[in-house]
Amino acid sequence: MDTDRKIGRRTHLRQLSLGAGVVALYAAGCGAKGGDDLVCTDTSRLSGPELATRNQLEYKDKSPNPSQNCTNCRFYTVPQAAGTCGGCILIKGPIHPLGHCKSWVVKA
Ligand code: SF4
Repeated sequence: MDTDRKIGRRTHLRQLSLGAGVVALYAAGCGAKGGDDLVCTDTSRLSGPELATRNQLEYKDKSPNPSQNCTNCRFYTVPQAAGTCGGCILIKGPIHPLGHCKSWVVKA
């Protein structure tokens, strides 16, 4: 009887763990699609010239034209972890997948 209870508890804990994993993957997936909660505006690590370039190219976290965003731009570099900011070959600092700047060029 005790053994049955221990196995039952272990199985229950395993199921809880799997459930938490599924929730974490779902949350990461939502971020990867550029959810509203993802913010890529921290420029505190940029040098003056890097920040000037970012400003000159008018980078925005949210593209004014949804069909032209960083995800489909040839200069975008995908993030290493799902749900985080990506990068850009032209602009330093965090880049939102649904962001935009004046140098947007369609990915070939
Ligand atoms: Fe986004 Fe502009 Fe970089 Fe293209 S060039 S990935 S639009 S920031």
